[in-house]
Amino acid sequence: MSDYLIVGGGVMGLLTAYELAKTDASVTLVEMRASGRESSWAGGGILSPLYPWRYARSVTQLALWSQARYPELARELLDLTGTDPEYRESGLMILDAEERDLALAWGERYQVPVELLDRTRLAAAEPNLALRLDNAIWLPGVAQIRNPRLTSALRAAIDHKVTLRENEEVLDILAEDGRVRGVRTTKGELAAKQVVVCAGAWTAQLLERIGVAPRIRPVRGQMMLFHTKPEQIAHVMLYRDRYIIPRQDGRVLIGGTLEEAGFSKGTTSTAKDVLYRFAVELYPELQRASVEDHWAGLRPGSPDGIPYIGPYPGIDGLFVNAGHFRNGLVTGPASARLISDLMLQREPIVPPEPYALDAERGS
Ligand SMILES: Cc1cc2nc3c(=O)[nH]c(=O)nc-3n(C[C@H](O)[C@H](O)[C@H](O)COP(=O)(O)OP(=O)(O)OC[C@H]3O[C@@H](n4cnc5c(N)ncnc54)[C@H](O)[C@@H]3O)c2cc1C
Repeated sequence: MSDYLIVGGGVMGLLTAYELAKTDASVTLVEMRASGRESSWAGGGILSPLYPWRYARSVTQLALWSQARYPELARELLDLTGTDPEYRESGLMILDAEERDLALAWGERYQVPVELLDRTRLAAAEPNLALRLDNAIWLPGVAQIRNPRLTSALRAAIDHKVTLRENEEVLDILAEDGRVRGVRTTKGELAAKQVVVCAGAWTAQLLERIGVAPRIRPVRGQMMLFHTKPEQIAHVMLYRDRYIIPRQDGRVLIGGTLEEAGFSKGTTSTAKDVLYRFAVELYPELQRASVEDHWAGLRPGSPDGIPYIGPYPGIDGLFVNAGHFRNGLVTGPASARLISDLMLQREPIVPPEPYALDAERGS
């Protein structure tokens, strides 16, 4: 019997395991495939919501807490495992300057540095950018993380403390007299005192089997990867909801589409064209770079992008930490800490009400 059993080994399950394993309790993580290979692998790793002023306070709170924690977390993981998640404060340049007033007011409200750059400063900051614009919104403190490395480092960090059961699907949550008693998997029954579902886009599918499920649905995102010389692009660039993320080694990610395609992770030539044209419009030099890869992942979409973090009503000992939509990397550390606080009955880092499963969301 485990004290805590986690369903799902994406960034949310791994971070939750990392948090819970700091106690003396026994922790088991069950993952239907390999850990860190779904949305958490497919994502871009921008450590800020895109256009952060468009989000509810509840999302901002999780993002701000996580942003403050990330430098220390990245260092901790590097020391523990030797894997560098490549946390880098490369700043976020938003080329949609028509939102400047909203951006500046948001920055003031949350004490986040936000600047408006003019044409000269923009050209100096990003000399290879071909678009000639009068203004850009500049968030110098925004960082990025190399998400596949983050999940590998987390997996290595929990290795000796957590029982990791991969290639084992959780088929059902087991409950008796209003209390959770474990899960049934493709390999048998596993008993646990508390269970937390971190199953990303698949969360609703699993919870529907026991009753009301949170409104989480898969939202496909396609990404493209170029390989070019390092330092051609200095900052994370965002324009008309598409973005460019330069990695340290010269790889450049282009993202991301938003598609309702059920659980299909197929890629399309239309999306590839759109992403390619976007990239070379901003940086014509990329025409000379090779396209290394093109893939799709399933975001755990939720109404207003507000995640479900809290107890499952009516079944004691059952919890959910899922539905982080476009912001699972940037809100991950705070979400894992919050769910652990609730499971361990500690003072929560932020008021938990907005994330409750029965809290009002969307329309
Ligand atoms: C294209 C794209 C770009 C993105 N860019 C960013 C970004 O720049 N910044 C940011 O913050 N976020 C970004 N995101 C969002 C972010 O990736 C997600 O919010 C986050 O990864 C969700 O993590 P998760 O652990 O909940 O889900 P996942 O990583 O999908 O993990 C869920 C895990 O649960 C497992 N599972 C499901 N059902 C079961 C079951 N029944 N039994 C056992 N295991 C099960 C799955 O196999 C999977 O491994 C992006 C996402 C995409 C797709």
